[in-house]
Amino acid sequence: RAKQRGRNTFHVFDPTRDRELQVRQERRQRFARAVADQELRLHYQPQIDMTDGRVIGLEALVRWQHPEEGLLSPAAFLPLVEGSSLESVLGEWVIDQALRQLSAWQSDGLPLCVHVNISPAHLLAEDFTERLASLLQRHDRVPRGRLKLEVLETAAMHDIEAAQAVMRHCQALGIDFALDDFGTGFSSLTNLRRLPVDLIKIDQSFVRAMLDDPDDRAIVESVVFMARRFGRPLLAEGVETLAHARALVALGCTLAQGYGIARPMPAASLPAWLREWSGRHGWHAIGMS
Ligand code: C2E
Ligand code: MG
Ligand code: MG
Ligand code: MG
Repeated sequence: RAKQRGRNTFHVFDPTRDRELQVRQERRQRFARAVADQELRLHYQPQIDMTDGRVIGLEALVRWQHPEEGLLSPAAFLPLVEGSSLESVLGEWVIDQALRQLSAWQSDGLPLCVHVNISPAHLLAEDFTERLASLLQRHDRVPRGRLKLEVLETAAMHDIEAAQAVMRHCQALGIDFALDDFGTGFSSLTNLRRLPVDLIKIDQSFVRAMLDDPDDRAIVESVVFMARRFGRPLLAEGVETLAHARALVALGCTLAQGYGIARPMPAASLPAWLREWSGRHGWHAIGMS
């Protein structure tokens, strides 16, 4: 009764906000159904070494195949999930699906690696490591080291001690980490040194702007220097053109991912892309060397 009255009072104060919250709640419930009804998909985007065209891995990127609205990108539904219990539900679905796919590729004789994005709250959730361990066990045909995790530096910085501990536990399970969107958070040299990451991904905003904007180019240069200084491999996101690729290789960043190489694609499209890519002799054939 009191609750009922409370809600009515709320209506009087701010009906618009109340309606917004209700819509949000409904959409959240709709998303929960989408997970259960298997409307989520993973697309995979190749990550390559520009010096030899070798595919070093694939990034798994989630999509929602909405029956009415079509294929939705993460920007359309991740904000809905953030801060709710669905965050871990989605995260575990993605890990499970990626492991399933790795297992299938293993059977097909394709020894690929997959990077999965892990949200901050999911990484720092109480039982993350235990649940990850049991997922790995469920897919024990997948060789150790094939699944890798991408974390945002903001996640790690939020509680660096906790993040360090979780990452160490995961590493003991054979999981490597990449630091995603590097340069966009409040990164510092000290924090970078303390985090057990095996790969740094420089954010696409800097890469995309580096040809036109001297400041962005300076940032890319500094990150290349820093990554080398700390002995961490560096991958450039958002490599859309050959000009970007050339500039990056000239600066000493040879790992890349971007529309210029391949767009994210369903797993079913990957074998054909791999054939076409090797037929092009990787990056060389489009003029890299
Ligand atoms: P991210 O992890 O930094 O992923 C890279 C994003 O850049 C992807 O967008 C990808 O499609 C896009 N991209 C790749 N190459 C290029 C390029 O050359 N140019 C441009 N303009 N964009 C490029 P997407 O798939 O929309 O994902 C956006 C973000 O959503 C991701 O950024 C990641 O933070 C998040 N996300 C995606 N999948 C998952 C997931 O399974 N779990 C979680 N927690 N987050 C995810
Ligand atoms: Mg990522
Ligand atoms: Mg990124
Ligand atoms: Mg991003």
